[in-house]
Amino acid sequence: MNRFDFIKTLALLPLISKSMKVQTLNKLSSVLSNTDRMPLLFLGHGSPMNAIEENEFVKGFRNVGKEIQKPKAILCISAHWETKGTYVTAMDYPKTIHDFGGFPKELFNVQYPAPGSPDLANKTKSIVQKTEIGLDDKWGLDHGAWSVIKHLYPNADVPVIQLSLDYTKPAQYHFELARELSVLRKKGILIVGSGNMVHNLSMVAWDKLKGSPFAFDWATEANEKMKSFILEGNFQSLINYDKQGKAFDLAIPTPEHYLPLIYTLALKDENDTTKIFNDQPVGGSLSMTSVKFE
Ligand code: ZN
Repeated sequence: MNRFDFIKTLALLPLISKSMKVQTLNKLSSVLSNTDRMPLLFLGHGSPMNAIEENEFVKGFRNVGKEIQKPKAILCISAHWETKGTYVTAMDYPKTIHDFGGFPKELFNVQYPAPGSPDLANKTKSIVQKTEIGLDDKWGLDHGAWSVIKHLYPNADVPVIQLSLDYTKPAQYHFELARELSVLRKKGILIVGSGNMVHNLSMVAWDKLKGSPFAFDWATEANEKMKSFILEGNFQSLINYDKQGKAFDLAIPTPEHYLPLIYTLALKDENDTTKIFNDQPVGGSLSMTSVKFE
């Protein structure tokens, strides 16, 4: 090979790797058959106790589970799995992770034995170009995933994989990465973001957890603004959450509970309708506000 040919080959390398990705994608299309466009969910998960309590939020999760066509599998982006780089759980049988402390034994006894889906994990890896997604065999299902999905599918008969949140990246990056997952919506995969739109644990009014719903003024302001942006389709303002003033700053002191919403928004199709449910504050500084796009 002369020097010129060598340089030409180098120039072609990115194209070759791209065409390999396209081939993988074609394989995905043949393995996972086409379905109607699946809905998208953002679920406000709140306290892990929602896993075992009977309350209006649990009813909301259950109702939404009944409203939608049963998926072939679930891909969940949970606030509780943050990593450097992006990973998907790729084991056959993800363990139930009890990633919290100070709760009753009854909650630690909960198991959610939904199978994983190494197949979906590999497919997710193959369709994302923005970053190299790692296959994880150590995580499992954290409470951001199981405490809500168990109300949607109590028989644990739908495979679940999780996609981690890269804590080194800004919201715009997460939005763009999430958009690449859109093909999965037409392959029978239900994509679920699980977090809380308003989530400031250091300001919880512990004496107001029970009784009629209570929200600090800033929490109400942030929650209402977020809902308006969602309903108007003004997603750029939600991506730029750190430029929306004091109420947003207090509602999102750290981004991990908010970013799963960004994943859900990124996957909204222009023909989707928007339904907001479980729109209630808890303890002043949390909101359970959840969204279904369909
Ligand atoms: Zn949480």
